[in-house]
Amino acid sequence: MAIERTFSMIKPDATKRNLTGAITKKLEDAGLRVVASKRVWMSRRQAEGFYAVHKERPFFDELCEFMSSGPTVVQVLEGENAILKNREVMGATNPADAAEGTIRKEFATSIGENSVHGSDAPETAAEEIRYWFSDTEVVG
Ligand code: ADP
Ligand code: MG
Repeated sequence: MAIERTFSMIKPDATKRNLTGAITKKLEDAGLRVVASKRVWMSRRQAEGFYAVHKERPFFDELCEFMSSGPTVVQVLEGENAILKNREVMGATNPADAAEGTIRKEFATSIGENSVHGSDAPETAAEEIRYWFSDTEVVG
């Protein structure tokens, strides 16, 4: 299994409830290493650009409104099989379906306000990392 990098966000519902440390601990306990991290309050336009793949979905407006409603922590995570491992520790999109012990099971409040984002494939991981970080900000 190769060492990979993936992109993660701690969403506004979680930063608001002071869960940045608790969520980061779950990521680190899963063997993921935080190799870049910053707190950003994204604009509506940045949210629309980041989630452009979902622009035809009925929840797009709600999602962009929520993601620009407060601070987010954007991170790059590194580790063995990091993309899949992060998705596992995040849990299912809808917290009602998320497995015990996952971040979304423990912390998410709804399918929209679900505490974390994680890239779903190598191509999206590279694209999402580039959207938020320059090369010099990622320090393995
Ligand atoms: P994931 O974040 O698990 O990869 P998706 O890529 O399908 O999930 O959706 C992106 C984000 O859009 C979700 O994390 C969630 O915040 C929001 N979302 C997805 N489905 C819904 C829905 N039915 N209603 C409201 N928001 C949703
Ligand atoms: Mg997704």
